[in-house]
Amino acid sequence: MRNESLNPEIVPSDLENFVPPTTAATSSHADGTLVDRYGRHITYIRLSITDRCDFRCFYCMAEEMEFLPRDHLLSLEECLRVIRTFVGMGVTKVRITGGEPLVRRNAVWLMREAAKLEGLKELVVTTNGSQLERYATEMVDAGVKRVNISLDTLRADRFRSITRVGELDKVLRGIDTAIAAGFSGIKLNAVMMRGVNDDEFVDLVRFAVDKGIDISFIEEMPLGSVDHPRADTYYSSDDALALLRPHFELRASSESTGGPANYWRIPGTRSKVGFISPHSHNFCDSCNRVRITCKGELYPCLGQNDALALMPVLRNHPRDDAPLRQAIVDSMGIKPKGHDFNEQMQEPKVVRFMSMTGG
Ligand code: SAM
Ligand code: SF4
Repeated sequence: MRNESLNPEIVPSDLENFVPPTTAATSSHADGTLVDRYGRHITYIRLSITDRCDFRCFYCMAEEMEFLPRDHLLSLEECLRVIRTFVGMGVTKVRITGGEPLVRRNAVWLMREAAKLEGLKELVVTTNGSQLERYATEMVDAGVKRVNISLDTLRADRFRSITRVGELDKVLRGIDTAIAAGFSGIKLNAVMMRGVNDDEFVDLVRFAVDKGIDISFIEEMPLGSVDHPRADTYYSSDDALALLRPHFELRASSESTGGPANYWRIPGTRSKVGFISPHSHNFCDSCNRVRITCKGELYPCLGQNDALALMPVLRNHPRDDAPLRQAIVDSMGIKPKGHDFNEQMQEPKVVRFMSMTGG
């Protein structure tokens, strides 16, 4: 294949895996809903509304980060237009994420407007919790149903060293405010790292059980180049399950929240324990989502580098959504069969940081 894209708006950074878009007929159902080349229905989008963050978690970002100038970002009105268009094409679940979504001014305006869209069943947010004391009640009022809050440790000094700058107390207060605010679901997310926080998995589950909320453990992914030895700290979901079993009665559950986690119930509690296992239990076959970055790049897969730039489409056709819909249909043609993360994690295959693509 020649070293250039077939479509000027597609950025094929991994030409080996690049497959030109197929016809619209195989990428979109007759009813206008989205189906990719492998027959997977796309009903879920994750939209990152900022690459900025008030933390610098060492597995997610480099110590020195250069963030995008503000005028390189989609405006919140453009974000809403993207969401509205996807919802019109059969997407029923939207996650607003980042970077830290709650550091973007007027983020709650976007949530409120998105929640009003007919056809959208679930509006959810992923946050580091630092701003929840301030915004949780407003978010519930705006129509956000569920929130995921990242929490890798319950020790203040360790929290500071993982996030480089974060304050654990503020996040814990944010979690309590979120519980009081009345979200229909709250889930903690903990990235598992051997020798960093594996001595706290039991405490983290106990914490979730005490608060009556859920928790998911995530295998670390090789996204972006960070100065932390990912191969050494890799911790699998199976190992975590084995570690937790002597402490909790864990019953396999078939529940799903539309995401990739496998859940276990702890009888007698309100909590579920989930495992997100991109390495050890690849879930690409059932992938139902695409991601959009804060500058409007549509990534059909978190673990690959091909993307389609929506910003020029949005800006060149401010009043006509047909080209945007066509671009979204075209993206179905570049959605790969799966990622190819491996447990060695030597070289990040994906050059973007998670904060860019949106977790
Ligand atoms: N700032 C928000 C937060 O921390 O929840 C939202 C964005 S963050 C990128 C979303 C999730 O991705 C967090 O739970 C974070 O722990 C996770 N994450 C970041 N980098 C990761 C990596 N390399 N592997 C696995 N999970 C990662
Ligand atoms: Fe920020 Fe979330 Fe990345 Fe941590 S994981 S640096 S909180 S975007």
